[in-house]
Amino acid sequence: MSQENKIFIEVKPDNITSGESPYYEMDSDSFDTMVVHCADPRFQTAFKKFVAEELKIKNYAPIVLGGGIHPFGSQKALPVNFESLWDQISFFIKAAKLKQLIFINHEDCKWYNRLIDLYPDVDLPVKEKEDLMTTMARVHQDFPDIKIRTFWAGLKDNRVCFTEVKHT
Ligand SMILES: [Zn+2]
Repeated sequence: MSQENKIFIEVKPDNITSGESPYYEMDSDSFDTMVVHCADPRFQTAFKKFVAEELKIKNYAPIVLGGGIHPFGSQKALPVNFESLWDQISFFIKAAKLKQLIFINHEDCKWYNRLIDLYPDVDLPVKEKEDLMTTMARVHQDFPDIKIRTFWAGLKDNRVCFTEVKHT
């Protein structure tokens, strides 16, 4: 590539932040938990408050993506999604020596609703709860000692209410 054709991008830190200090505090690197949940913006405050205040986990590694752990329940239909999420989770388990995983699925999930044709025979809330169990089982196949907790974030009167999902 000739010099004329190169694209130069100039980044000026002063232009990025409007505040007086362009520097932000880092969080602690002391953590032993990963939390995986949906990216739906309506639920983010509830997810964070639930993990911090109810589960008493102040510092954790989040994976936030549409549909949360949905790739575990649709490995055949969406193998790339599964490989990507599994790569992330297993990397953190090994590299950060995680002791605990928290998986949360939620009611009225737009991502699951987008995939509704993949699951014609089951109600979405049931499918989402089944996927939490499928995810737990898959992780325990490779990492039998890690603690896993799974939660359902339901809606009532426009508020979010968490219940733990367990094998019955
Ligand atoms: Zn969602």
